[in-house]
Amino acid sequence: DYGTAPESSADALAWIVEQGSRFGHFIDGAMTTPGEGFESRNPATDEVLATLTQATQDDVDAAVTAARSVQPGWAALGGKARARYLYALARLVQKHARLLAVLETLDNGKPIRESRDIDVPLVARHFYHHAGLAQLMDSELPGMEPQGVCGQIIPWNFPLLMLAWKVAPALAAGNTVVLKPAEWTSLTALCFADLCRQAGLPRGVVNIVTGDGAVGEMIVNADVDKVAFTGSTEVGRKIRAATAGRDIAQTLELGGKSPYIVFEDADLDSAVEGLVDAIWFNGGQVCCAGSRLLVQEGVAEEFHARLKRRMDNLRVGDPLDKSVDVGAIVDPEQLARIRSLVDRHAGEGEVHRAACAMPDGCFYPPTLISGLSPASALMQDEIFGPVLVSSTFRTPDEAVQLANNTRYGLAASVWSENLNTALDVAPKLAAGVVWVNGSNMFDAAAPFGGVRESGFGREGGWEGLGAYLKAPSGAAPLVRTAA
Ligand code: NAD
Repeated sequence: DYGTAPESSADALAWIVEQGSRFGHFIDGAMTTPGEGFESRNPATDEVLATLTQATQDDVDAAVTAARSVQPGWAALGGKARARYLYALARLVQKHARLLAVLETLDNGKPIRESRDIDVPLVARHFYHHAGLAQLMDSELPGMEPQGVCGQIIPWNFPLLMLAWKVAPALAAGNTVVLKPAEWTSLTALCFADLCRQAGLPRGVVNIVTGDGAVGEMIVNADVDKVAFTGSTEVGRKIRAATAGRDIAQTLELGGKSPYIVFEDADLDSAVEGLVDAIWFNGGQVCCAGSRLLVQEGVAEEFHARLKRRMDNLRVGDPLDKSVDVGAIVDPEQLARIRSLVDRHAGEGEVHRAACAMPDGCFYPPTLISGLSPASALMQDEIFGPVLVSSTFRTPDEAVQLANNTRYGLAASVWSENLNTALDVAPKLAAGVVWVNGSNMFDAAAPFGGVRESGFGREGGWEGLGAYLKAPSGAAPLVRTAA
């Protein structure tokens, strides 16, 4: 239904009520009795959606024990049999796409247009893709072994999609998992637990425990063979320290401050539209958001003028409204973080806030801060909100130097109608992915991940599957790139 009426929340709220509005953990194939916990709220309205349980050490131990006991059997099933479960999960995600999209929007505050058209379809795509890879494993990757039990910890910005990025390759490769969603956004993970049950997934293969960072620490310190983490660089560093000296596989997908480089020969209107997608998609709460605009001097004034006009047409508001471009910020705590960083440094540049009407509550206006010096904290630190910062450059060399002047290296966009310029600049950028005349393009078949303080390891593609496999008896690890 692509009508203009706001998407109804009735089914998703009914689903929460059917589950008793209080959730335990999903351990060994069943939901545990809800215990002491915390509330999950709709950030757009501040309504309490459900009460979740803070996992204890016993819960984490039970989840790891369940995952450990069934892992050899799950691996021994073989890729073709595992593929059947992954296909079933993909189909169930599609069957319940609307419920999952609305639940995600209620819990996270992201526009329904995004959860419906981007997050949930990509989740299904990820399970289909890895079902396909699982089918090929026995013939294409003979002798490769799964890592074993994987601890997986995910952030709140793409709750179900980050789950899919973690769970699908792990299961395809014959691992079992203990996953912790972020404490602000656990509902779609708990709904996914229900889909695992409906798919007839053997008990213990997927375990989901809820709670805050302390539960994440318990998982990292548990008897797991791999830790896969997506979140802030700060927590990534803590995980590195906690696992130092342990023989444990790791994938860390961390923060970013990705440059968006506009050359004077770019199609400026397309570059403006691309920028809307780069920085206002999911309210800028995107690890690879094009949050740092670098624009060539000759077109800087014109580009900023067109950008401001476009910003003024953005619609901020009820995330369930299908015409809304920017929804709510995930939580008042995150809103306060954005405000504090911007308020401390906004005076260093010129601020333009979108002229759109602003609802009360947990919302932040699309904002552009231009004329900043490269050393400004706003140019260096991840804001993780709908705030774009900009500065200018003269030559391609200066663009590369400014783009790489960051501790991060997750993504970059280059805009030019001259393919030579684009192809000359792209490989010089320190980034895991570089988009030419585009941004925020993802696919299950393409590896994604960062360099420098944006982390290491890849998710997606053959590389992502390889991160969940090990070669037997110390042979070389899987290195295979997509043709
Ligand atoms: P966060 O690091 O605060 O939390 C992420 C997860 O880690 C949550 O589940 C949290 O409960 C858990 N956690 C917190 N402390 C922990 C600890 N000491 N040990 C183990 N787990 C712990 O990040 P966030 O605020 O939820 O997410 C935003 C960050 O995630 C941003 O920096 C963003 O760039 C990054 N991110 C990166 C990618 C990527 O693929 N590179 C994707 C999405 C988000």
